[in-house]
Amino acid sequence: MTVTRFAPSPTGYLHIGGLRTALYSYLWARKNGGVFRLRIEDTDLERNSQEALNAIIEAFNWVGLSYDGEVEYQSKRTEIYKKYINQLLESGNAYKCYMSKEELDSLRAKQEAAKQTPRYDETWRPEDGKVLPQIPEGIEPVIRIKAPKTGEIRFVDGVKGDMKFDASFVDDFVIARSNGMPTYNFVVTIDDMLMEMTDVIRGDDHLSNTPKQIVIYNALGVKHPNFYHVPMINNPEGKKLSKRDGAMDVMDYKRLGYLPEALLNFLVRLGWSNKDQEIFSMKEMLELFDPKNINKSASAYNAEKLLWLNSEYIKTVSNDRLIEELKFFDLDLTNYSKKEEILNLAKQRANTLLELKKSIL
Ligand code: GLU
Repeated sequence: MTVTRFAPSPTGYLHIGGLRTALYSYLWARKNGGVFRLRIEDTDLERNSQEALNAIIEAFNWVGLSYDGEVEYQSKRTEIYKKYINQLLESGNAYKCYMSKEELDSLRAKQEAAKQTPRYDETWRPEDGKVLPQIPEGIEPVIRIKAPKTGEIRFVDGVKGDMKFDASFVDDFVIARSNGMPTYNFVVTIDDMLMEMTDVIRGDDHLSNTPKQIVIYNALGVKHPNFYHVPMINNPEGKKLSKRDGAMDVMDYKRLGYLPEALLNFLVRLGWSNKDQEIFSMKEMLELFDPKNINKSASAYNAEKLLWLNSEYIKTVSNDRLIEELKFFDLDLTNYSKKEEILNLAKQRANTLLELKKSIL
């Protein structure tokens, strides 16, 4: 059975890149009669906010992507993660490191001065026949994973193909801080394992996390899911998408008068295609979407295309639906005697619901 998830961090609103990976994950699960889960990655207590969490759930509901089961919150799962930290300590796949912050800083400074990539020097890594330093007093250890020292970490990415990382790309990274709290890559891996993910579809800004997560899967002795890393959405000049280009809160699209189906249609095409088809109903998306056909290169945001799609959807949705949607913009046509005639005419020319409202008033 296909199991996918969307795993936002509630540190800001839901942006269209996030919604696109959510859509792809949703389509792939639903197409296969599988399960689509929502997991809130809220372990960064300083950067999380309830407001951001509400905004994400609100946006999710607006576009109508339904998820299965309860929402999982990482902040409530610390005890589960600690159990796996202990398991790795016991199996010898992780170890305690008592290096102080000062020692680590000076190690990093030396490596940087020698133009080397900063990496942990394995002082506390246990090896056969190696004598470890005396445990210092007053230092709570961090827990490090015993990463492979030689060879390659390989996986087949469903979008990018064969991926190879030299073992030196990953050092014995920290999986639990000295206060006992597990770190980002560790909790993602444990959750994907326990939630039985088969396919992880996420932005390629996470690609460099994947070898670390594979090291954790290997240490736990479990198979990792299939990974699909989706290239970014750029602006028309090929640069990082800014707020001005359209990298705004998904709910801003609602406020600007876009229909959610137009936005989803726009997003499915930003990074995936089926011949030269532009308009996809949800039914067609479900029939045709396959993450193997996600484009290998970054896609370009195209504001005119979104407007055009929106105008097409406004033309084809029912007048009853438009009457419902216009209420959000403080226009209630329910009791207008000529509402059908007015809408039939006005919807032929409106790119957005706001334009529709203006042309009626
Ligand atoms: N929480 C991550 C984010 O919001 C996603 C992690 C993942 O999909 O593995 O970017």
